[in-house]
Amino acid sequence: MLALLYLKQLSEDTMSIMNGKKGLIMGVANERSIAWGIAKTLADNGAELAFSYQNQGFKKRLIPLMTSTKSDKSFECDVSKESNDFNSIEGMFEKIAKIWKEIDFVVHALAYSDKEELKGKYLNCSRENFLNTLNISAFSFTRVAKSALPLISLKGGSLLTLSYLGAERTTPNYNVMGVAKSALEASIKYLAMDLGKHNVRVNALSAGPVKTLAGAAISGARHVFRYSESVAPLKFNPQLNEVGNAALYLTSNLSSGVTGNIHHVDGGLHSVAIPKQENLD
Ligand code: NAD
Repeated sequence: MLALLYLKQLSEDTMSIMNGKKGLIMGVANERSIAWGIAKTLADNGAELAFSYQNQGFKKRLIPLMTSTKSDKSFECDVSKESNDFNSIEGMFEKIAKIWKEIDFVVHALAYSDKEELKGKYLNCSRENFLNTLNISAFSFTRVAKSALPLISLKGGSLLTLSYLGAERTTPNYNVMGVAKSALEASIKYLAMDLGKHNVRVNALSAGPVKTLAGAAISGARHVFRYSESVAPLKFNPQLNEVGNAALYLTSNLSSGVTGNIHHVDGGLHSVAIPKQENLD
């Protein structure tokens, strides 16, 4: 009986782990988005959420999803806009400051590169797409950190972004996006150092392949999916709720001692240098 009461209490405590915490989710395109997997888990655990969407086309798909988390706060934000634009990162945080005095976390789950350059050789990357990919997929996180600081540093908090194994090692057709993710991962360490004194933690989840719009833009994605799940020690690619659970840890007080970290949620794929022969047959 006592054990049952203890378990009930434990589960109630766990369910309310984000109670009283407010945060912004960037990057929900649809119900298959990693940002959505994270948002749902955080909301199920008591977080109050606001969302950003890239443009009006994305807003239509976001509204029914955000309503299901009881959120009524959404902001248009194209991270490539200049800081003086109404829908820039800076413009969005000015609007957030009008509705919330402080925030506890930001989840940055967005990236972009020209699909035509996510095939063939990295060698052929154009200057224009190199700069655009790094601006949207890496530099935007630094701008988010700077703009969020006045709100998130009031009582400390967590900034979280999304990376991929292609930052550390080559994966087919990932090309310039791998270079952008490397820049993003280095940014995490420098931002963690800059923001530590404000008790703001900065981390990334490096997710295994997930079937999303952005994932489908990478040529030959099917091969990467099959290879990853056959070689990963757990023998599967992560589900959205598994990425969400890892995000729950990194945005909650459970990870109060963790910053500057790249946490892999990939079934262990990153730990394999040479797969067993039987896994390749
Ligand atoms: P997704 O297509 O569902 O989400 C990508 C989001 O990026 C969209 O909401 C889109 O609106 C947003 N975006 C693109 N350009 C933008 C801009 N200029 N301004 C504002 N928003 C912009 O795909 P996803 O796979 O969920 O991607 C989320 C993150 O996860 C990305 O950083 C991606 O690189 C990363 N990731 C994905 C995988 C995977 O296999 N899908 C694996 C590891 C990491």
